[in-house]
Amino acid sequence: MAKTFCIANQKGGVGKTTTSVNLAAGLAALDQRVLLVDLDPQGNATMGSGIDKAALGQTVYQVLIGDADIPAARVRSETGGYDVLPANRDLAGAEVELVNLDSRETRLKTQLATVQRDYDFVLIDCPPSLSLLTLNGLCAADGVVVPMQCEYFALEGLSDLVNSIKAVHRNLNPQLKIIGLLRVMFDPRMTLQQNVSEQLVEHFGDKVFSTIIPRNVRLAEAPSYGLPGVCFDRSSKGAQAYIAFGAELVERVKTL
Ligand code: ADP
Ligand code: MG
Repeated sequence: MAKTFCIANQKGGVGKTTTSVNLAAGLAALDQRVLLVDLDPQGNATMGSGIDKAALGQTVYQVLIGDADIPAARVRSETGGYDVLPANRDLAGAEVELVNLDSRETRLKTQLATVQRDYDFVLIDCPPSLSLLTLNGLCAADGVVVPMQCEYFALEGLSDLVNSIKAVHRNLNPQLKIIGLLRVMFDPRMTLQQNVSEQLVEHFGDKVFSTIIPRNVRLAEAPSYGLPGVCFDRSSKGAQAYIAFGAELVERVKTL
């Protein structure tokens, strides 16, 4: 059975998509079978996996609406070594359409149940909001991986996210938990980041992953080549950190 994790944070630009794509590639490099679900209408995880979002037939949109199943819509990221349930602008309309459908929060969960045996990990790249799309992700997941930058307002933003996750846990998905907080875009030369990082560990203890993802320009360059950073320049510090994170997650999953 696959372990399903949402990569979520209500803030935009915090590294959710970079983490989703590189964790998928990092886990694939460790011989794990991975499905990456792109739940953001921007389709950045799709493009970053080397898939042309303009040339897609069926996408996660059709899967949510009930016009396609996952085996029909998934595509292979040849470079990444994992499958992608892709997204494009069509998904922006799903929000409105889902409101009128039955079981609107659990449609992704129902579809994912049919491909559990095909994967070791299902990773869901969420949009930056607590929309119906994100709710579909949270309802389908065993847990949440929260990428965050060690900045001044980081802890404040985190309490909003933790409250949202608690609400979903109470009302919709009793198995949902925070798997861990991942420090990303980390610059060890900045005292503020060091301080926030220490505060995080004080507050959240071993919920903070021990792997730290550094700020690394190779990770930022990779999407313009349609490649996960892990495949674009595997020896870079960023790529090595995401492969290490994949290994840490494989270990953590054993204790869940
Ligand atoms: P989100 O999905 O949360 O909106 P992204 O993953 O798209 O965030 O990241 C936002 C921006 O930061 C992108 O331009 C991305 O290339 C860049 N970025 C993300 N992680 C890193 C990193 N570790 N080092 C350098 N740039 C990064
Ligand atoms: Mg994103």
